[in-house]
Amino acid sequence: MLLKKNRLINILSFAIFFIFFYAFSQLYFIKNLKFINDLELIIGQASNLPARWVGTKDVNKNIPILILAGHADSQGLAGAGTSGEAVDKLGLNPMDPAISDELFWNLKLQEAIVKLGKMKGLNIRSYDPGIRNIDDANDPRTNWSVGKNFAKNGGYAIEIHFDSYGDYGVGSGLIPPFFETPNKIDEAIARKFGRFPVLFRGGLGAPRRQIRILEIGKLEGLLEKKLRNLKTRQRTIKFLSNEIVQAFLNGINTHASSNPMLDAEYTFLPVIYL
Ligand SMILES: [Zn+2]
Repeated sequence: MLLKKNRLINILSFAIFFIFFYAFSQLYFIKNLKFINDLELIIGQASNLPARWVGTKDVNKNIPILILAGHADSQGLAGAGTSGEAVDKLGLNPMDPAISDELFWNLKLQEAIVKLGKMKGLNIRSYDPGIRNIDDANDPRTNWSVGKNFAKNGGYAIEIHFDSYGDYGVGSGLIPPFFETPNKIDEAIARKFGRFPVLFRGGLGAPRRQIRILEIGKLEGLLEKKLRNLKTRQRTIKFLSNEIVQAFLNGINTHASSNPMLDAEYTFLPVIYL
């Protein structure tokens, strides 16, 4: 009788454990799914251009990271960045008449990413040329010259952008460096934001200098509305910078997994099957 009772208790406690385990794991997945959808909902469609690269190269934990704001030195020139849907199509005032709306948001994001990245222990910094129109891309003060040197010395240089609205843009995604094998940070960012082909538009100026380009999303619709609305601006900038910093952390902390397609969040998945 006593034996039977013990067995019953064992079965019951195992069942209770299993029910709780199942409930928690479901909660975890629902939370994760929601998280992914939130990002997609805000940044819109990712690039669907054919891109087959996979970033598998390990990165050093303390890799120096440099965040550049796209078009910071090319205002008033051909490549000033997009004015966004709000200004171009809807006729709203630019955020700052001296610069393109894209640069305005690139600078805001740059600052937020570096601030949060430092808090999370990343070896991260920014560079701003300050001078808004430098004619020669090879001038030593440009984003590209500083980024090129940074990459040459073993750092990870990335220039952030917002893509053009409507059919002028492609969507979100990472353009990897031209002459270098993509690494695990590239992979982690691409899993969140999507990927562009290495040879996008024949290999742009930045990737040719080993500077990555991240298109955060098209400057239109919900994303632009949330950025422009004072009630949601800070939250949106924080949300986007958190996604980017999290991708850095995922890329740095992912080590030689048996399947390079699994990222840090998903390494917990097999627990279910233990
Ligand atoms: Zn741009």
